[in-house]
Order: sequence, then structure tokens, then C-alpha cells
Amino acid sequence: MKSIIGVDIGGTAIKAGLLSEHGLQKKLSAPSPKSAEDLVRVVIQLTQELLPDRTPSCCGVAVAGLLSPDEKEVLNSPNLRWIEKFPLQAALADALACPVFLVNDATAAAQGEIRFGIGTTHPSFLLATLGTGVGGGVVLDGKLWTGSGGLAGEFGHMKVGHEARCTCGTIGCLEAVASASAMQRHAKQENIPGSLAEIADTARHGDSKAKSVFEQAGSYLGQAFGQVALLMDLRVLVLGGGAGPCADLLRDAALTTTAKQAFGRTVEDFSVLASPLGNDAGVLGAGIFASET
Ligand SMILES: [Zn+2]
Repeated sequence: MKSIIGVDIGGTAIKAGLLSEHGLQKKLSAPSPKSAEDLVRVVIQLTQELLPDRTPSCCGVAVAGLLSPDEKEVLNSPNLRWIEKFPLQAALADALACPVFLVNDATAAAQGEIRFGIGTTHPSFLLATLGTGVGGGVVLDGKLWTGSGGLAGEFGHMKVGHEARCTCGTIGCLEAVASASAMQRHAKQENIPGSLAEIADTARHGDSKAKSVFEQAGSYLGQAFGQVALLMDLRVLVLGGGAGPCADLLRDAALTTTAKQAFGRTVEDFSVLASPLGNDAGVLGAGIFASET
């Protein structure tokens, strides 16, 4: 039996899991380190805990950033600057003594959704991962569309008409106002402390300021998704990442603005769904990617 390891490196945490063809067998996580050398050390440690007495058959590593064309290093990662230009694939392949494959984190999450999540009921959808940043994956008829050069799906850097600067250096990106981090920042300005899950609970208990944090982010999500809907006629927006479980709070505003952008369609034509895999999608997809490459 193959021992497949999936790893998802995000701005806040590193998640790792052991996969079988039926899904995730075991998972672990650790806080994101602040240097590439520490990252390699943490990935080795998590892998050894998942597979104490064996070498993995292969390992897929999802990273929040743009990969080099040979997929051996990360060229640009606004939320993980310390990883840029580091020979990540070679360092991990050496350390783990198995084939290692790097993949964009949103691409990985979309692969996970296709195989084990929303893709089992919906053939076409846009996955938006709302974490430290906002990633995206376009799935058409059961297949991930990665574009002419592998860069498709950068949903987080679509412009939605505001003045805030994004980590990519431009102004007006969706990510700057609708990532999990952006929602938390907004809540803090409104004197609502706590984690995003706590802020969501405050909103569900009826706090109008907390509700408006999600309504505003949902409205921006709909603004961007409406543009996608115009171009692609996609009708299902799946929310994953840390803010995926807040889909109930983001949904109404997102649906209203989506329908306003996309003429010929109404709110009833669209769905905004929470990812059934949640934060496991990236780990699952990274493992699938490695085992099928
Ligand atoms: Zn941006």
C-alpha cells in the first residue's frame, strides 16, 4: 500500500496528513515557521509522527504562492516571503528521501474538493479559500482549469473597487477585504476581539456590528464572483479555508451582489456553499497531486 503524505503550508499553520484512496487517515498541524530551514525541519517532524517507521511513497506540498515553471521553488508568496527563491522541492526531497511535488495551495484544495468534497455533487464550481489570503480554483466539468501557464484562479487579486492596498502591491484586491485575516482586522476596528470563529459566534447571536463584518466581506465576494459568473456562467461558489465555516454569514450578501453583477440571472441561480472538507482540502489535494504526478 502506498504511504502518501500531503502537506499544506499556509500563513498561519502547516498541516500534514497521511492519505489512502478513501481520504485522510491521520492529520497533524504546527504553527507556520518564519524561515525556510525551520519549515523543512517541521515538515520532517510531522511526517515522522504520521509515519513513524516508514519512508513515505511520495509527498505533495501545497504552498500559498506562485511556483516556478519547473515547480521546484516558490517565486512569489505575499504571505510567506521567507520561502521565496528557496530550493524547497529539493530540500524536502532530500530530507524525506521520497519524491516531493510542490503545488499551489488553492489548486491543491480544488483537487481535494473534486475528489472528496463538493465535486462529488457539483461538476463545475469556483473554490475560494479564505485564509491569510484568498486563493481560488476554477473547476469545470470535474476538471481543474489551471490556465495557459498554470496561473488561473487568482480570485483573491480580482479588483473589487476599494482603496485598501493588497499584499501583492496593488490596490483594490478582494483579498484585502475578504480574507479571514481581513475580516478579523475589520472586527478589531469595531472593537470585536477574538478568533474568526468567535467573531462568527458573536454575529450568529445577533450582534449587528459583527454581522456587518461578514456582510461587507460577503458583498465583496459577490462582486468578484459576479464577474466570474458573467464570463464563465459558473453558479456555485464554494468557500474554504479558515473562513469556510462562516459561509452562512457571508452567503446572503454574496448572493445579492453576485446576481446584481450577472445580468440574466437571479439570486436563485447561484449557490454559496461551505466546503465540506474545510481545512483538510489542501492536504488531501496535495497528496492526490503527488500520487498522480
Ligand atoms: Zn492583490
